[in-house]
Amino acid sequence: MIAGHWSVVVVGGRIAGATAAWALAPYAEKVLVVDASQATSFWPQQSTWDRDGAILWDDLGLLDTVLACGAPRTYGHTFRFEDEVSEQDYPQQDGYSYRMTVPREVLDPALLRAAQSRDNVTVLRPGRVRDIVTRGGRVSGVTVRHQGVEHAVSCDLLVLADGRLSRNADRVGAVPYQVIPSPWVAMLAYFADLPLPTDRGYIHLERDNVAISTPCGPRQWCVSTDMHQAMLDASGRHPAQEFARIIAEDPHIGPAVALGRRITPVGGAGKLRMHRRPMSGPGWCLVGDAGYHLDPVVARGTKVALVGAQLLRDRIAAAGDVAGAVLDGLTEQRDAALEGDWELAEQACLPAPVRS
Ligand SMILES: Cc1cc2nc3c(=O)[nH]c(=O)nc-3n(C[C@H](O)[C@H](O)[C@H](O)COP(=O)(O)OP(=O)(O)OC[C@H]3O[C@@H](n4cnc5c(N)ncnc54)[C@H](O)[C@@H]3O)c2cc1C
Repeated sequence: MIAGHWSVVVVGGRIAGATAAWALAPYAEKVLVVDASQATSFWPQQSTWDRDGAILWDDLGLLDTVLACGAPRTYGHTFRFEDEVSEQDYPQQDGYSYRMTVPREVLDPALLRAAQSRDNVTVLRPGRVRDIVTRGGRVSGVTVRHQGVEHAVSCDLLVLADGRLSRNADRVGAVPYQVIPSPWVAMLAYFADLPLPTDRGYIHLERDNVAISTPCGPRQWCVSTDMHQAMLDASGRHPAQEFARIIAEDPHIGPAVALGRRITPVGGAGKLRMHRRPMSGPGWCLVGDAGYHLDPVVARGTKVALVGAQLLRDRIAAAGDVAGAVLDGLTEQRDAALEGDWELAEQACLPAPVRS
């Protein structure tokens, strides 16, 4: 039975939504997750985290789940800037001191399965939240469309984890207070059986593009590029063609991909806009890209999702239940926790260099 009252309704069931549902379930009577996406064999996005991400997964009780996805730990990367090559090793402070990348089509279903393993979590997929109901200035429910039928649902808390293009964030009045257009186009594809190390990544930085290869599964690598839109405009080529050129010409990745196999299409995104919105208001909260979108060039979207879920969980845990939680001040707390990440991404999104 979908219609009726739920303690928490989570809109979006990928990294941010599935993690939030898992983390909030112990403090809620009933949690409903509504996700509009279809299961797919390829989402052109990655998930990457460093030591701080591993600590966050552990704190949220999901570290075993994400480790079971089978991605290798990496302990450093080869860094190339034009003709200079150096080896970067990650400081070994403790058992969390590694970097990990997991394909989203592996990670997201694993997180959603974990959430669903809680007795009090129900997942509707595909389902869509179409309208938000407010009463006395407070969000009190939503309209859910599932299998062609509309259901009126009320809730104590609405968690919007519906991604960077969230229309529901606009509906609750979470107007962005900072927007930064990005000059980057991010493209990626997955490859198998490359003759590359399985415990090290590779980053090649040029003036207007970056090429990266990252081990991400058993004998699997994610190969990605970030390219300035200005470079694409100058070449007149499609981003997928430019991806193929950059990869083929790269002295480390080029010879490797010639020997391995590409196992997904090439996909990605461009013309993105970083944004920050208020994290909470009466009866609602935003987690993940919906409230805080960092450009993919810094690969910190996973950390954003985990920080948001953790902060929200801590507020609810402090109150003992969802209805009693105080959500004021979450925006400031989140922005402080992610300040260095925002600054890095802002710096990376400075206007494109002019080609001579
Ligand atoms: C090319 C690319 C490369 C990236 N690389 C990295 C990387 O290396 N490392 C990293 O950490 N991050 C990376 N990111 C960023 C990362 O993908 C995002 O930060 C992350 O996907 C955000 O997760 P989310 O759960 O907030 O939103 P999303 O993953 O966007 O999920 C939102 C979900 O909400 C659903 N939804 C939307 N509207 C509704 C509705 N009305 N009702 C119900 N459901 C709805 C959608 O169908 C979707 O399933 C990359 C992104 C891109 C585009």
